[in-house]
Amino acid sequence: MPELPEVETVRRGLEPVLVGNAFARVEQRRPDLRFPLPKRFAERLTGRAIKGLERRAKYLLARLDDGQVLIMHLGMTGRFAIEKAGGETSAPGDFVHEPSSEFGFPKHEHIVFHLGDGSTVRYSDVRRFGIMDLVGEGELDGHALFKGLGIEPLDEELTPAWLAKKLKGKTTPIKAALLDQRLIAGLGNIYVCEALFRARISPTRRAGSLATKTGRPTEKTAALVKGVQSVLREAIRSGGSSLRDYRHADGSLGRFQHRFRVYGRAGERCLQRGCDGIIQRIAQGGRSTFYCPICQR
Ligand SMILES: [Zn+2]
Repeated sequence: MPELPEVETVRRGLEPVLVGNAFARVEQRRPDLRFPLPKRFAERLTGRAIKGLERRAKYLLARLDDGQVLIMHLGMTGRFAIEKAGGETSAPGDFVHEPSSEFGFPKHEHIVFHLGDGSTVRYSDVRRFGIMDLVGEGELDGHALFKGLGIEPLDEELTPAWLAKKLKGKTTPIKAALLDQRLIAGLGNIYVCEALFRARISPTRRAGSLATKTGRPTEKTAALVKGVQSVLREAIRSGGSSLRDYRHADGSLGRFQHRFRVYGRAGERCLQRGCDGIIQRIAQGGRSTFYCPICQR
């Protein structure tokens, strides 16, 4: 499942093709993805120019010239393949990585955007957990997908003082608090494990212990904010992480998986300098947590 860095990588790949371009023709090959596609989906997109492409949590938001916003979510296996007008092809943030002998994924290709300059953007989704919706700009904040969504982890708003105030008195484990999308939006299992390792904080530590009694930040709160932001920034710089089957790796794939320090490393030596710990895997809230019980406290 793509997390924030992978979605941001996809956004950066799509942006130069989509923005400033227009939907000349839209092929919709099925009525639904995870949910039914909006009514007259292809018709409402046709002829519209794309003014901007943003990311909010794990959603891509294409702002159109008539005030509509195209919301896109990759679900578990959604991906975009781009064919530029000159014939050059790419698949930005192709994190899924299933064997594919040809460019594009025709069998599971559900939506094809034909753009004004002759480029094509194809959306395929094997498991169809992806989402596309079309709403007015003014409806965005109240939309079921965005209502109650927390702050962006890379925004200036995320500071030790802000986080301490939010964590004060919380008895849930810190890992669960970080995965709570109402607090910080877009953080997922992999990068939370990695951020906690960087901050040397145990995933089982009580969230409230990262604030003083009066809700002030501690050294650990600051280390955690730094851990979260540094791991996300580095992962974005590496083009995200590609999971599963690495056999078909090529230059377009994310590389950050090679820099995981705890995720997927159960039984291996801790990489913290001077630490003799062995990375453990435990279950928390039905998900695997990887951490070092010696240096993460
Ligand atoms: Zn360690």
